[in-house]
Amino acid sequence: MGETLATLESAENASPFFREMLTGLARLFTFDVASNSTMEIFINDIPEEGLHETGKFPASIFDLSPEDAIRPMGAVLFDVHIHAFDEVIAFYGSLKGPFQLKCGTCLEYNDYEADFSDWKTDLDLEEKQRSFILEEVIREEFILNLPEHLRCDELIEGHVCPKAELVDQVLESAESDDESGGNPDAWKALDDL
Ligand SMILES: [Zn+2]
Repeated sequence: MGETLATLESAENASPFFREMLTGLARLFTFDVASNSTMEIFINDIPEEGLHETGKFPASIFDLSPEDAIRPMGAVLFDVHIHAFDEVIAFYGSLKGPFQLKCGTCLEYNDYEADFSDWKTDLDLEEKQRSFILEEVIREEFILNLPEHLRCDELIEGHVCPKAELVDQVLESAESDDESGGNPDAWKALDDL
């Protein structure tokens, strides 16, 4: 950045065309490094044939606690077509990104490569809404589409959940002891997990 400014200063004496070009470059550069820049799309700017946007957003758009069942592990990629209608914005395209998901049984985190290749959604517009933030739409879509409460052995082929056997035993004895409302010993075992 210091270099860019120095170049701009020395551009004082340069031709107006050259100066304008450098200023433009500096602006591009600044936009690119701003990590909190948002991608706001104005509805009036969406042409009748739609908009096509591709790019990536940093993992920081998720802003989740480290204890959350979803852990974003890197930038997420989007390739999205956007169409504006009277009261709704329609999106379709593909979303990709690396995550870790918490197993609902053993509570361990496992890698999960999200790849939603045939994704679509709608955004209902509020009265007088003039724009929307693309990051927010993409963020919500990942959270909605990622599998929830999955056991790690459903997620990873050939993997055995370290706590699966214990939980299966507990569920079985609870079922076989239905009339008394469950086997207290089994539930105690579950508590001890
Ligand atoms: Zn597990």
